Amino acid sequence: MRTEFAASLERAAAGEELTREDIINLLAAAPGAEEEALYRLADSVRARVAGDEVHLRGVIEFSNYCRRHCYYCGLRADNAKLQRYRLMPEEIIAAARRGAELGYGTIVLQSGEDPWYTGPMLAEIIREIKKLGVAVTLCVGERTRDEYAMWREAGADRYLLKHETANADLYARLHPGMSWQERLRCLQWLRELGYQVGSGNIIGLPGQTLADLADDLILLRQLDVEMAGLGPFIPHPATPLGGEPAGSLDLTYRVVATARLVIPYAHLPATTAVGTLAPNGRQLALQRGANVIMPNLTPTRYRADYQIYPNKICVNEGPEDCRHCLEGMVRALGRRLGRGPGHTLKPLPVQ
Ligand code: SF4
Repeated sequence: MRTEFAASLERAAAGEELTREDIINLLAAAPGAEEEALYRLADSVRARVAGDEVHLRGVIEFSNYCRRHCYYCGLRADNAKLQRYRLMPEEIIAAARRGAELGYGTIVLQSGEDPWYTGPMLAEIIREIKKLGVAVTLCVGERTRDEYAMWREAGADRYLLKHETANADLYARLHPGMSWQERLRCLQWLRELGYQVGSGNIIGLPGQTLADLADDLILLRQLDVEMAGLGPFIPHPATPLGGEPAGSLDLTYRVVATARLVIPYAHLPATTAVGTLAPNGRQLALQRGANVIMPNLTPTRYRADYQIYPNKICVNEGPEDCRHCLEGMVRALGRRLGRGPGHTLKPLPVQ
């Protein structure tokens, strides 16, 4: 084991605040003893702060229209090959009701950036879903502060807005017409409005370095996020990055494990993207720091068209199949399903 890796891991085990250099050392863990030690520590921190519960957040991908042009995403407006769909409000509410019946404590409303759904329209949908007694997470991109405020008032509990990359130059190259500063401003508004805030980044983007990934984790720490989505880059053939290699699965695991040490109290999903790259990807992520899974509640006939990346798993199953499959996965790992909404893991402030 390299001396610098062992020293950084020791600092992490002692609960010290990790420096950028420490984080880079951990992200560079070599296969074998170093990776195993990193994963062991991440799993023990996960057990201490989050326990053995794995929270299921039911995701409804209610629209695949998007006004943006992100270079890595199959939903980008320029992808004319994609069959577009929008769920009507009553379909969204029906899907949420199914999720509540299946015992999911949180419903995630996710879409491309689709202004067809006005602020008041989404507020009404949120109000109806809140009557089901579940937590609501929104993941609908950049909107105005007034809209964020309206949805919070309607009962939305959480908002997920990934920063995608903390490297502002890389961000600018991949997001034509968007601004990294604006992204951060939205995250600031969400915090001010009292949302539990989620962010996160893509792993393995062309041109991205370990130092960039360390900066991602430091940004997540600065944002004091309640959750972080950390998923590998998977090239979509109908995008400008379609010919680039996918992000490394092993690097993704190292990022998830290191995130558990840098932001120990954040909920970390075992993403569908890792499950897409390897059949046991989500199981391994759950054993390396993750504590959340996001089963799909989108009506089956639309699922294949929510194509941020290709070959996504679980597109042909119904909501009940996903529920049973994931319950089996969680139990096989010796863990148990989370009860209730699975709100923030952060300790309550001392009175
Ligand atoms: S990443 Fe989000 S904002 Fe960008 S094109 Fe895809 S759905 Fe739209």
